[in-house]
Amino acid sequence: MKYLNEYRGREGIRKIVAELHRTTTRAWTLMEVCGGQTHAIAKYGLQQLLPPEIELLHGPGCPVCVTSLDIIDQAIAIASRPDVIFCSFGDMLRVPGTDRDLLAVKAAGGDVRTVYSPMNALELARTHPDRQVVFFAIGFETTAPANAMAVYQAHRQDVTNFSLLVSQFLVPPAIDTICADADSRVQGFLAAGHVCAITGFEEYLPLANKIRRPIVVTGFEPLDILEGVLMCVRQLEQGKYEVQNQYARAVSSEGNIPAREMLQRVFEISTQSWRGVGNIRSSGLLLRQEFAAFDAGQRFPMDFQVREDTSGCISGRIMQGLSKPDDCPHFGNKCRPQSPLGAPMVSTEGPCAAYYRYGTRPHHNQEPRHEH
Ligand code: SF4
Repeated sequence: MKYLNEYRGREGIRKIVAELHRTTTRAWTLMEVCGGQTHAIAKYGLQQLLPPEIELLHGPGCPVCVTSLDIIDQAIAIASRPDVIFCSFGDMLRVPGTDRDLLAVKAAGGDVRTVYSPMNALELARTHPDRQVVFFAIGFETTAPANAMAVYQAHRQDVTNFSLLVSQFLVPPAIDTICADADSRVQGFLAAGHVCAITGFEEYLPLANKIRRPIVVTGFEPLDILEGVLMCVRQLEQGKYEVQNQYARAVSSEGNIPAREMLQRVFEISTQSWRGVGNIRSSGLLLRQEFAAFDAGQRFPMDFQVREDTSGCISGRIMQGLSKPDDCPHFGNKCRPQSPLGAPMVSTEGPCAAYYRYGTRPHHNQEPRHEH
C-alpha cells in the first residue's frame, strides 16, 4: 500500500523516536490541532513512545465537537418540520441538543438522512422537488469547498428547494485564541495536514510570528505525527518559531487554488461561535449575500433563544488544551459512547471517544501498540 505502510513501519518509527530522545533536553507541551491526529495518537500509543518530557494536548479540530448548541437545536427544529428532508453526516445524529438529538427526531418520524457529501443532498433535492432538502454543513476548511460547490451547482441549476445550515470553522483564528489565554500551556502546534492541503500554509507564517510558537504542518500516520513532533521539538530546543511542512506529499504553500477560489466565491469570513469556547472573530464562513437564498437559517427563520449548556461537559476546556478527557468527572461514568453527554464522546474525531476507545490517558513507558 504505497504512501501508507511506509508511514507505519516499525523501523522508521524507531529511528524517529530515538532521534526525539536524543533531541529533547527539557519539558515541552505540544498541541495536535486535528481530532484525526488525536485518534491516531491514541490508537498507535504514540504518546508512550515520546520522551517523558513531551506532552501532547488535544486541540479544537473536531468539527462535530465545536458545533455550538444553538446550531444543533436549530438543526433539530428544522429536521422536525414535515416538509423537510434533513441531511447530515452520521456523527451529528447523536450529538445532544438541549432536549434531544437528531436521532430522536428521526425516531419520532422526522425525515433525517445520513449522507456522505453535500452533493448527495443536492441530488436528493433534484429528485424530491416537492420537499425542502437541508444539508447540515459543518466542518473546517477541508469540507467547506464541497459545500460551496453544492451551493454553486444548485444556484446554476436553479434548484430552489436546497439549502445549507452552515456551521463552518477556520483553524488559524482558533490557534490564535488558544495562545491568547494566559492559562495556555501550548508551546508548539502540529497543524492539520488536510486543512492545509486546501488552504496552503502561507497564512500560518504571520500567525507563527504573532504567537511566537512553532507550527508544523503534519499528516495523520504514526510516522507523520512523530516526525512533526520531532520538527517542533527541534525548533523549540533552538528557540525558533517557524512554520515547517512535514506533509509535503499533500501540502504546498498556496494549497488547492481552485478549491480556495470556490470557497471564496460562495462564502465570506464571519465571527463564529465555538461550542464551549464562545465567539471567535473571523473564524467562520457564512454564505455570501448572493447565495443567501441557500441559507437554511434564513429560509426557516426561528425565534431562537440561545440556551446554556447545563450538561457539565467540559469540551470547551478540552478543545483549548486546558483539560484532558479523563479530567472530566463524567468520563466513563455518566458519559460513554452509548450514552454521550457531549459531542467529544460521539464524534469519530472526538478526543473523549479516542480516550474511551483506546484507553485513558496514555502513560509513559507502556508498550506501544502497532498495527502490523
Ligand atoms: S467525557 Fe463526556 S461530558 Fe466529559 S468532556 Fe467528554 S464528552 Fe463532555
